[in-house]
Amino acid sequence: MAEAGTGVGKSFAYLLPAMYFALANKEKVIISTATITLQQQLFEKDIPLVSSAMGDVKLKSVIMKGRGNYLCMRRLNDALAEPSLFDLDFDELSGIYNWSKVTKTGEKTELEKNSSEAVWPNVCSESDLCLGTHCPWKEQCFINAMRKEANSANIIVVNHHLLFADLAARFQGAGYENSVVLPPFSRLIIDEAHRMESAATSFFSAEFSKTGLFRQLGRLYHKKRAAHFGLIVKLCAMIVSIDDPLDDIADIIAKIKTCSEELDECALDICGQEGIYRLCGASDESFLKRTLFPHLKSLRRNLLELTNIIRDITENFDEEQANEPIVWEVKSIMRRFEGIAEICDVFCKYKKHEDEVLWMEKNRKWIVFTRTPLDLAPKLRDSVFKVNKTVICVSATLAINEDFGFWANQCGITGIDDRQTLSGCFPSPFPYSSAVLLASPDDAPLPDETGYQDFVNIAAEKLISASGGSALVLFTSYQSLENAYNAAKTGLQSLGIHCLKQGDDDRSRLLQIFLNEETSCLFATDSFWEGVDAPGDTLRLVIICRLPFRTPGDPLLEARREKIEKEGGNPFLELSLPQAVMKFKQGFGRLMRRSADRGVVAVLDGRLLKKAYGKLFLQSLPETMTSFCSLNNNIRDIENFIYK
Ligand code: SF4
Repeated sequence: MAEAGTGVGKSFAYLLPAMYFALANKEKVIISTATITLQQQLFEKDIPLVSSAMGDVKLKSVIMKGRGNYLCMRRLNDALAEPSLFDLDFDELSGIYNWSKVTKTGEKTELEKNSSEAVWPNVCSESDLCLGTHCPWKEQCFINAMRKEANSANIIVVNHHLLFADLAARFQGAGYENSVVLPPFSRLIIDEAHRMESAATSFFSAEFSKTGLFRQLGRLYHKKRAAHFGLIVKLCAMIVSIDDPLDDIADIIAKIKTCSEELDECALDICGQEGIYRLCGASDESFLKRTLFPHLKSLRRNLLELTNIIRDITENFDEEQANEPIVWEVKSIMRRFEGIAEICDVFCKYKKHEDEVLWMEKNRKWIVFTRTPLDLAPKLRDSVFKVNKTVICVSATLAINEDFGFWANQCGITGIDDRQTLSGCFPSPFPYSSAVLLASPDDAPLPDETGYQDFVNIAAEKLISASGGSALVLFTSYQSLENAYNAAKTGLQSLGIHCLKQGDDDRSRLLQIFLNEETSCLFATDSFWEGVDAPGDTLRLVIICRLPFRTPGDPLLEARREKIEKEGGNPFLELSLPQAVMKFKQGFGRLMRRSADRGVVAVLDGRLLKKAYGKLFLQSLPETMTSFCSLNNNIRDIENFIYK
């Protein structure tokens, strides 16, 4: 495990030995990143650079992205043959078809931007819709071509999602000797390792919603002006017997839709204003038995009835029929339905599933039902750390005050007795002590005191005015963001500072405007705490409005807190605080991207200076200049620092 600050040269530090090792031992090394940006940087810049430093050795590296990034020739051709089945724009499909004739990779990034947002999900590769060796397009398949390349590569650059798709399949029985999603390997480097747990969490979770279910049902069967369409219609046409089951199947599909609508309405009611509800020990079981469970049970019953009917049909097919792509596709949809039926069952038996977190959450206008493991550490320990000979984890934020304990525990690294673990912190070579001013007003209220939001509104405007814009303002809630943005916007715009806010445009476009307009300021939450790379004068000021403790009500956090409490631990010290410190370090890290950068990080949360635990946040940062005084004196210090 290595924590290395910005500018240390993490990628070169692992690439050189990894490439040398891969060549000398004829073993594959997998490098996994959280973001496509880093994946591409490694593949396009860093690996070629190291390779030439090694004397242009004969090393083969390939980049593998998630399936969804590649065109599936079979799905494209099915959609072209029957666009009405998927309600797709034929011109756009034809455009993708023409592109498929010339592209070498079939990768979405090669397509013109935004040209395929509606169509792409219907023509990209998806694991459970892939027919593998039964696919009539397997010779032209971009996924197969990419895998073939990977088989003969020394270094394979993947992302965390793809890595976990592979590791989970191996862990669940696919074994370690053969190709699964990736070719077999036992040497692994995980960069941006602080994102590993969240990538794994989403991978080991399962969810469904009315919308997703309706989409699958629409592919199976739909009716337009007395005409029937869909995979089921084709499937029924393959049956030789005189009894046509189409009407029965159409009836069940209609019932599933009704059940799903009723379940969604009931769940929306239960989630109420908060828009979220977790099934746990404190839930009112008799209320759930009267309201939610009957809907879950009838959805499950109808889904299983449908899957049984389809199974009866397909089991009677001869070998040739059974290998028809359409049969494989229907079967894979049935597997999805069985998965949904299982989630319904698990929800109804929530008391028996204490090792999982089960919740319903409003997403736009519908409810998403999710199950996720309460504790990921054992899964990660068994699927990542025990089975690989070498695992290197690197990131700019893994340790707290040089201690890896929290992160290592969360990821299952602790508790592996027979393996040697090495760790090290490598501070950034950037001149933080002269180039960064850390400011925090000692007259800032605590977030639960009245006047806190007003203070943030006033302070944000004053600080951004003092820096002349070029500011990133980080929040932990969108409500607080809107409040501060509305309060500051008019004043700042009169100074010629363009105010941007998360939600006004998509993330990458917002970031582009922010980077292009040097004096602009960006008000943002969540994902902007990391991954914003704004060097030089585009970013002179980072304002952290509130220490980033996760909001109560996050079901996973609540469940993990309860578990710690039950075991006699202190959930604040063992979970909430270290999580917040890690995120705080990420936010702080936005400022210095190059060694010549200079700027200010201002923290407007009174807890930083007034609470004992504030010290842990301060100790986790590199040494900087400080301004811990009243807001007005902070402003004076900032002006002196920026314009000296
Ligand atoms: S093998 Fe799978 S990904 Fe490739 S074209 Fe066929 S269905 Fe699509």
